[in-house]
Amino acid sequence: MKREGILFVISAPSGAGKTTLCKEVIDIFPNLRHSVSYTTRSARPGEVHGRDYFFVSLDEFKGMVAADEFAEWAEVHGNFYGTALKTLEDYRAQGIDVILDIDCQGAHQLKKKYQGAVYLFVLPPSYQELRRRLDCRSLDAPEVIDRRIEAAAGEIRESRWYDYIIVNDVFSKAVEELKSVLIAEQCKTTRVLAGVSELFDI
Ligand code: 5GP
Repeated sequence: MKREGILFVISAPSGAGKTTLCKEVIDIFPNLRHSVSYTTRSARPGEVHGRDYFFVSLDEFKGMVAADEFAEWAEVHGNFYGTALKTLEDYRAQGIDVILDIDCQGAHQLKKKYQGAVYLFVLPPSYQELRRRLDCRSLDAPEVIDRRIEAAAGEIRESRWYDYIIVNDVFSKAVEELKSVLIAEQCKTTRVLAGVSELFDI
């Protein structure tokens, strides 16, 4: 049954657990891929070029912006991030579903272009818990963590226009909720009908 790939756009303040949630469902759904973004940020220990991000220079990034190669791009926490248009279009055309782990500015840009995309927001259970998770993660310097907490309030306010909100308190429950959204969206009549109408004459 052929259908267009679905774009699942997921945003969250840094530390809400979005990246871990996305990895979890990608291992479960064979027809789901992670859209690997381009960024000017330096790789963190353990991050792999082409798997976690395409790490590029500012000049390379600007060149891609000038050539209109991004479906969306934004400056987040002092670095640039963008989603390659070609990657999205290829996946969609092949009927492969894609998860985009991107910030609210990028999600806004996609909302104007892709009406059929699904928008999910992951919330932490509280600000205190968010701070604790960022401190424990110790991936970033304290001043970077402070910047991310400050930005979180603005990002959280954006959650109101997303299609779904998942509160990541108990991780296993959040995974179940995310899986449920993915499955429900895959079963939507508007997505399935074209693939079955000839078989059943509907
Ligand atoms: P991090 O540096 O922690 O990996 O990501 C920082 C923020 O950038 C996260 O909110 C992440 O979702 C966002 N981000 C990652 N890739 C993209 C992208 O391609 N476009 C946009 N707009 N945001 C992105």
